[in-house]
Amino acid sequence: MPGGKCWMKVFDLDADSTGPGSTIPGMLNAARTLLRQTFGFADFHPQQAEVIAAILAGHDALVLMPTGGGKSLCYQIPSMLLDGTGIVVSPLIALMQNQVLALRQAGVQAEYLNSSLDYGQQQAIEMRLRSGQLDLLYIAPERLLLPRTLELLGQLKLALFAIDEAHCVSSWGHDFRPEYLQLSVLQERFLGVPRMALTATADATTRRDIVAQLGLQQAAHYISSFDRPNIRYLVEEQQAGREQLLRFLDQHHPDDSGIVYCLSRKKVEATAQWLNLHGRQALPYHAGLLHAERDQNQVRFMNEAGLIMVATIAFGMGIDKPDIRFVAHLDLPRSLEAYYQETGRAGRDGLPASAWLCYGLQNVVRLRQMLEASEADEAHKRLERRKLEAMLGYCEMIRCRRQALLAYFGEQKSQPCGNCDCCLYPPRVEDGSVYASKALSCVYRSGQRFGAGYIIDLLLGKTSGRILARGHQQLSTFGIGTELTALQWRSVFRQLLAGGLLSTDPEGFGVLRLTEACRPILQGQQPLQLRLEQPDRKKAAPRRSKILQRPALTGVDEQLWQSLCQCRTQLARQYGVPPYLIFHDSTLHAMVEERPADLNQFSCLSGVGQHKLEHYGAIFLQILQTHSSPLFSGD
Ligand code: ADP
Ligand code: ZN
Repeated sequence: MPGGKCWMKVFDLDADSTGPGSTIPGMLNAARTLLRQTFGFADFHPQQAEVIAAILAGHDALVLMPTGGGKSLCYQIPSMLLDGTGIVVSPLIALMQNQVLALRQAGVQAEYLNSSLDYGQQQAIEMRLRSGQLDLLYIAPERLLLPRTLELLGQLKLALFAIDEAHCVSSWGHDFRPEYLQLSVLQERFLGVPRMALTATADATTRRDIVAQLGLQQAAHYISSFDRPNIRYLVEEQQAGREQLLRFLDQHHPDDSGIVYCLSRKKVEATAQWLNLHGRQALPYHAGLLHAERDQNQVRFMNEAGLIMVATIAFGMGIDKPDIRFVAHLDLPRSLEAYYQETGRAGRDGLPASAWLCYGLQNVVRLRQMLEASEADEAHKRLERRKLEAMLGYCEMIRCRRQALLAYFGEQKSQPCGNCDCCLYPPRVEDGSVYASKALSCVYRSGQRFGAGYIIDLLLGKTSGRILARGHQQLSTFGIGTELTALQWRSVFRQLLAGGLLSTDPEGFGVLRLTEACRPILQGQQPLQLRLEQPDRKKAAPRRSKILQRPALTGVDEQLWQSLCQCRTQLARQYGVPPYLIFHDSTLHAMVEERPADLNQFSCLSGVGQHKLEHYGAIFLQILQTHSSPLFSGD
């Protein structure tokens, strides 16, 4: 570890820099010192510094950052620096509790007010609030809006209002919370208190709603790149979903914690059971479970290492566990927005993580069926159909998936990413016009009344009972597609669907029909690039890759790593918090790599602030010293 540098990390704040008349650069320096002293981080991400400067100068702000982008520090640090308490509006009890626990671990004075507290506890918090002891108070919107609370806050000095998960204000999104609409009251009642809205939802409609509903017309917008470079995007065609999942987990995440999303409760239960049978520890989570069981599974997932949560999308917002190493989808998400939000739960800590999706034709049919059966009006359904098509297009992508994803959200990325399956294992692409026109003709000749399975049998010239019963062996297209396997034909059909050349019936039986768009293909006027699945793709080069693994540890390091993890688990139990609130994995990695020899060197590790240094430094140093003794070092 570089000697000397650590002395830069001074653990005392220059009081003058926050006093009356202090300049913004001065305050920003104070903020940086606080970042190092309290949170143990070397510097702000670029957008964080800008947002913090704006708030310190008394301005409002709209902050759009992806999950894991570091939104919380944007309000936590100004709340600590400015006079008075920062009020954080947060929609979920679990989220508030986690953040408050994390802040306390860092030695920050923070509390939350919500329905989980009894009267006595609430009184105690109010007392601390009134006496100005709190830097941060987290509060649910319905509690904040009570006349009594507004009155209380009106008597206090407030640093700022932070409205977290601000997309809840938009009735377009799936997290709509009517109470959020009433938060407009804040601008009227608390003139001069800076307000900031924060969200990881990027689209323009949501953004407009936030500005209009929360009265943030004067707010500067801070929009970060939504790229999550540490997440590797992988898509596989579905053959035997669960086995594929297991193979993926064995290869890339043999003992990691992650989420597996399924569409139905039944599939959640079955998949969780199946994973348990195959040596993984998995828990189910869906809206059909008893509340107590659901909560218990969630608590276990947050606290124990290596657990897999198999869940419907009911398991969603509020999962801020930083070390989720993978998010797997066994069914197709209904939109790219949902996909991006769900996969975004992986790798908040910035370490390598994967987003793995396995999808097949029947997924598409099922989703269409659900969409058409919903009670939404026609305009809404049209929108949903478009979103589903975009999702399909993404699955059948032959170029960089990350570029396509970001482009969908309005962000241009000039270079392919090198960290998605299309970049890593470029698919074989061919002129597929002949296949396309054979497939389309066969759909047409058989009367546009059948699903892909039947059409493929026709193309392959199978004389099944169903075909003979209809006399379809007489069709001119019978048996014209024997050059491809059934698997390859399925892929062709998926691509034709994704490209909008075929559609399925609105009733959801999977009946394929031609669309207007396929005319030029049928007439041979337009070439069509198709990806051809290789029949032996399963046996292709092993997909394990180093980048997804923990940095390779040697035998001795591995022992050290295990001891550090054990120590962290023990401390977490003792303090009743999840292990990652003691130290993130990245901080433990840094310990293994840098081998700090004393408290000063220990204080230089990323993620070690003063409070954690005092509380845990000596314990971890002892482990480090034991492992560096001659007994351990001889290899
Ligand atoms: P968000 O709320 O935007 O999803 P968080 O505020 O939870 O993100 O931050 C994500 C992770 O990044 C956390 O583990 C946090 O400690 C870490 N982090 C945030 N800012 C910094 C920084 N400037 N330097 C290093 N790590 C940071
Ligand atoms: Zn890529």
